[in-house]
Amino acid sequence: MSISEFGLIEKYFIKKIQRGSVNRIGIGDDCALIDVPLGYELVITTDTMVEGVHFFSGADPRLLGQKLLAVNLSDLAAMGAEPTSVTLALTLREVNESWLKEFSEGFLGLANQFSVDLIGGDTTSGALILTVQAVGLVPKGRAMLRSSAQIDDFIFVTGNLGDAGLGFKIEKGNDCFSSDDALKKFHQPFPKINEGLAIRDCANSCIDISDGLASDLKHILKQSGVGAKLDWDKIPLSKGVKRYIDTTGDWQMPLSAGEDYELCFTVSPDKVDSIDIDCTHVGVIEAKAGLRIQRLGKTEELVVKGFEHFS
Ligand code: ADP
Ligand code: MG
Repeated sequence: MSISEFGLIEKYFIKKIQRGSVNRIGIGDDCALIDVPLGYELVITTDTMVEGVHFFSGADPRLLGQKLLAVNLSDLAAMGAEPTSVTLALTLREVNESWLKEFSEGFLGLANQFSVDLIGGDTTSGALILTVQAVGLVPKGRAMLRSSAQIDDFIFVTGNLGDAGLGFKIEKGNDCFSSDDALKKFHQPFPKINEGLAIRDCANSCIDISDGLASDLKHILKQSGVGAKLDWDKIPLSKGVKRYIDTTGDWQMPLSAGEDYELCFTVSPDKVDSIDIDCTHVGVIEAKAGLRIQRLGKTEELVVKGFEHFS
């Protein structure tokens, strides 16, 4: 006998609520109920992953569940929010219980690491499409925005850049650049929630790097009405990515490839000493519009494209 829709939800997705004072009602009623503590505001984001567009057909369901949640939590991290709750809309081609078991374990395993409760969702049939809405809390008025970078701010990034891009190339069959770190970064990005919380009080602006540093930093520049200069020599690169660049000459890859899910943030010079996380100073915010990079003794306009749908 095939399992009913709610039977499936009960079996794989209902877990004990961890944040009962916030998530007052979870799965099982028509809607979930969130009690927003006094002095906080809700931070809400949603991200969809479509088979064949965001992940390969036949992708490992456990890693997929993890990554689906990670990319959503990464947006909350960029705002300096503490994640509390998520909903999950699943469109499935069929009910495949071993797939669902792995997927839910990946998803809920990462949720558990941040004490995030799955409080609702939807389950439908169709092409494989996975959507999460993630909710977090931030003290009122304290979220980090893209629009408040200041001239002379130092620009920082967490982690290394380009590993996920290299992992993607390896997955596509470019196996002359084998790198376990790159593959891990591509399949298992880890949301920089703790870093976002730690820099919330010193950063003027922040974004998560989902489409490549160049295109994501440009969002900060545009919305803040400023420009920036990056220093190529300071861009943090893993050995694998360095080897890739040495071999191919494609130095722009770590600046243009997506899915690193690191944070890019700006801090005014007088607050730089209070930064309490591992990060790298890669450039500076300037009054002159545009994004420039200093490389091999020259300053040039940085024209690289990040990933865009419909283009
Ligand atoms: P309704 O028909 O009223 O929209 P559903 O029958 O779709 O409700 O869902 C019943 C309950 O199960 C709701 O609380 C809903 O949020 C939850 N739910 C449905 N699908 C999922 C899912 N994939 N993950 C988590 N919760 C789910
Ligand atoms: Mg209903």
